[in-house]
Formats: sequence, structure tokens, C-alpha cells
Amino acid sequence: GTGTRRMPPWLHKRLPASGDIEATRRLLADLHLNTVCQSARCPNQGECFASRTATFMILGNTCTRNCRFCAVEYGQPEAIDEDEPRRVAEAARRLGLKHIVVTSVTRDDLPDGGAGHFAATITALRQALPGAYIEVLTPDFRGSRAALAAVARARPDIFNHNVETVPRLYPDVRPQADYRRSLDVLKQMKELDATIYTKSGLMVGVGESREEVLAVMADLRAVNCDILTIGQYLRPSPRHLEIKEYVPPETFTWYAQKGREMGFLYVAAGPYVRSSYHAAEFSVKIAGV
Ligand code: SF4
Ligand code: SF4
Repeated sequence: GTGTRRMPPWLHKRLPASGDIEATRRLLADLHLNTVCQSARCPNQGECFASRTATFMILGNTCTRNCRFCAVEYGQPEAIDEDEPRRVAEAARRLGLKHIVVTSVTRDDLPDGGAGHFAATITALRQALPGAYIEVLTPDFRGSRAALAAVARARPDIFNHNVETVPRLYPDVRPQADYRRSLDVLKQMKELDATIYTKSGLMVGVGESREEVLAVMADLRAVNCDILTIGQYLRPSPRHLEIKEYVPPETFTWYAQKGREMGFLYVAAGPYVRSSYHAAEFSVKIAGV
């Protein structure tokens, strides 16, 4: 066999085949843009597009790192597309988005890790859609203060950087990343601009214990992280990291409860939760967008 275990019933969700999704797909293809929603065939597309949320992937399709859970291609990335911020803003405006998430591959090949391109994209989005909520989900920029400051100056509403898993599993899951550095990235962003909400997340089901997840949550609160997401890891292909456990829905509910007790402003935890899933709920709650 492939080692892929049968999915439990709570993970049976179908991609909705709606005309909206088709129209969105065409618009994005015309503008030569990538969304994580579509390239990862995310099962939440119907809900997210209905709540006018989408996640754009900037800085290309090729990553300089190869995390074992991720389906993005590994290799030498292409040159920066300087016109991309304008096209992201144009797509967001034409789709009437209210909550825009911008993410990227890791660009260890660039001196600023792509921070300037993130900043340009935030600025273009602000001009096109002054009322929208803008969230960035960034790589660690190798912990560079200058790179983080460039992003902070563009003033995203939410700065998201995922720790992904518990520190013990980093060598297996994210070999080129560093748990302490990722925590420090979140800490630095709060120091640079305390009005930017910070956010992080984990995928569970890769062999972590409940206690280890709680310890990560405590570490995130210790750097004043405001928002937390926890979702089930799903293996993109048999070449990727194995699923160790299908975490039951009750456990996600328990994590969410614990998170709220620890003082996170907002927690999304559940089998289908992705970093950007129900992202708009937080902006509705906080800003009434
Ligand atoms: Fe897109 Fe994220 Fe929603 Fe999936 S959860 S459809 S990637 S915005
Ligand atoms: Fe995927 Fe991000 Fe890891 Fe690159 S750094 S392999 S895009 S998770």
C-alpha cells in the first residue's frame, strides 16, 4: 500500500463545483496569479470565496526549502515579477475581497527574503481596497530585523508566521527552519509595531503529543501572539511526511478552549482549519469589516 490510511468520516468534505469558483479561476488565470486555495485544491474554497477571502501566493511557485509536509516544488526560484503587486490588487478588487491573505514560498536566494515585495503588495492592496483587511503569511526571512521592519512599515492588519509543529519534530518536518527563530520573528513584529495583530499556527497529526502542543501555545503567548490556528495535517502525496494520527474533533475543541484560557484573542481549531480558514471571522470580530 501507499501508507495512506483511510480517512475518518469527519474528514469527508467535497470541493463544491460552483460557477463562482470557475469564474474566479478564470480571472486569476487571466492575471497570471496563483492562489493557495486553488493550487492546494483546498476543500474550503466554497466557504472562503463566499466570505470574500482568498489567499494569494506571491514570489513564484518554487521554494528554496523543502519541508516534508509541503507540496510546493523545491529548487531555484524565478526572478521577482515586479508587476505582481499591481495584479494582486487588481484581482482582489475585481473579486470584491474583504479579507485578503498574501503568502509566499521561502526565498532564501533574495537578500531581503522577498520582504520588499510583500511590502509593495500590501501597499498596492491598500490603495485598491482601502476597507479590506490585509493579512500576510510570511516565511521567517531568516529572522532578519530589516526584512521584518520593511513588512511592518507597510502596515498589514495581521502578520502571520506559522510554527507548524512542535520543536521536537522540526528535524523531520521543517529541516531548514528553527523553532526559536520562528518565535523570535513573531516577537520582533510585535516590538516593531504593537498595533499589528500577530498570528501563528500548527498542523497536528504528525506525531506530537497533546502536552507538546500546549507547550507551543504557551511559547506563542509568551511572545504576545494574538491569533492561533490548529488543523489536521493531510499528506499531499505518498512521498510526503506520513500522517501519524487523525486527531479527533473533540481534541481540537479542547485545544481551542485551552487557547482561549491562555489569552489568545481568537482561536480556530478543527480538522479542516488552514492558516487562512475563517480568517475573515477575526476581522469581523475585531474591526467590524
Ligand atoms: Fe483559500 Fe485558505 Fe480558504 Fe483554503 S482556507 S480556500 S487556502 S483562503
Ligand atoms: Fe512549503 Fe513554505 Fe516549506 Fe517552502 S518553506 S517547502 S513553501 S512550507
